[in-house]
Amino acid sequence: MNNKQALKEQIINLVDGMAAELKEISLSLHKNPELGGQEYRAAQLLIGAAERRSFTVKQNISGYETAFIAKKGSSGPKIAFLAEYDALPEIGHACGHNLIAAMSYGAAVAFAAVAGDRASSYLIGCPAEETQGAKVTMAEDGVFDDLRAALIVHPADGNYIGGTSYACHPLQVSFHGQSAHVASKTNKGVNALDAFMLFYQGMKMLRQTFIQETVLAGIVTKGGTAPNIVPDEVEGKFTLRALSASYLEDTVIPGVRRLAEGVALATETTVETIHYEPLFKNLVNDSQLMELYKQNMALLGEGVTVLGPEDAEGSTDVGNVSHRTPTIHPDLGIGSNLAAHTPGFALAAGSNYAQERLLVGAKAMAMTAIDLLD
Ligand SMILES: [Zn+2]
Ligand SMILES: [Zn+2]
Repeated sequence: MNNKQALKEQIINLVDGMAAELKEISLSLHKNPELGGQEYRAAQLLIGAAERRSFTVKQNISGYETAFIAKKGSSGPKIAFLAEYDALPEIGHACGHNLIAAMSYGAAVAFAAVAGDRASSYLIGCPAEETQGAKVTMAEDGVFDDLRAALIVHPADGNYIGGTSYACHPLQVSFHGQSAHVASKTNKGVNALDAFMLFYQGMKMLRQTFIQETVLAGIVTKGGTAPNIVPDEVEGKFTLRALSASYLEDTVIPGVRRLAEGVALATETTVETIHYEPLFKNLVNDSQLMELYKQNMALLGEGVTVLGPEDAEGSTDVGNVSHRTPTIHPDLGIGSNLAAHTPGFALAAGSNYAQERLLVGAKAMAMTAIDLLD
């Protein structure tokens, strides 16, 4: 135990010593936001930094050019620190992934240095969290399978741990009818917009039949071409979410599909449903890792609010990782009154205060990894 205390002191000193480097990485990403799947500059920056720290890097993971696995050490438990580095259109790093990249890099380097040959330290570069979610395919390909733990800290408006994220499987629903002049006496066409509206209203009622908390939300992406033409093609995109991936896949989505088919039958339209983005599974936080992280945050003088296991917010592809290996995805406060995906959050993610806060996240993750040493 005392030995671990000493190792944790070393982690704190090492991360403090990396403050300038971590700030530079974080701010460089912040100034040059790149969208999911196009994070070439960010990935190269992290890969270059990891290689200079004697990590061995494998690139091009699971079909993603901007994914990578950087590894140091080949014995003992394998601990992974997950980096994200994609930004959002127009508002840049409004989810603060620049901070996530720097925190996980800092933790991986410090942990590798302190653990020596007692463990293997991994920095896993995971692109496109905001869109396709590279971790989905990476998880399916077994990238996270023989890890002892996967750790990632997300910036937020306070320190939180626990809770969950919704399982989410976006669905595109397209109704096809038959066009006609709206004032024709002989040809009334088949109105796909009417079908779509019926389906949309039906979803509101369907939702009440689900015993688990669900989110069924959507927009119309194609609504017709002109008011004097009976719409023959109407399409919507829906984000369908539930507290567990199994309930979503076994109950919610089949229900939505049956509703769409029933409406098509009733309105003499045809309907097509396709998933246009992959399934993000619900996040399962590992209880042992949660406890260790909380204790280490306390050692750093930080309080952490623990959320209940059904306290869901948003969706993340870290969920898919958590179904493969023990995972935690706590939040680290970088300011107050902040909402992710807003310009205000982007500003906070580039503030001097956030660059100081990221040191806390890096330390807490690396210290938690120390607790997992034999
Ligand atoms: Zn986000
Ligand atoms: Zn995020």
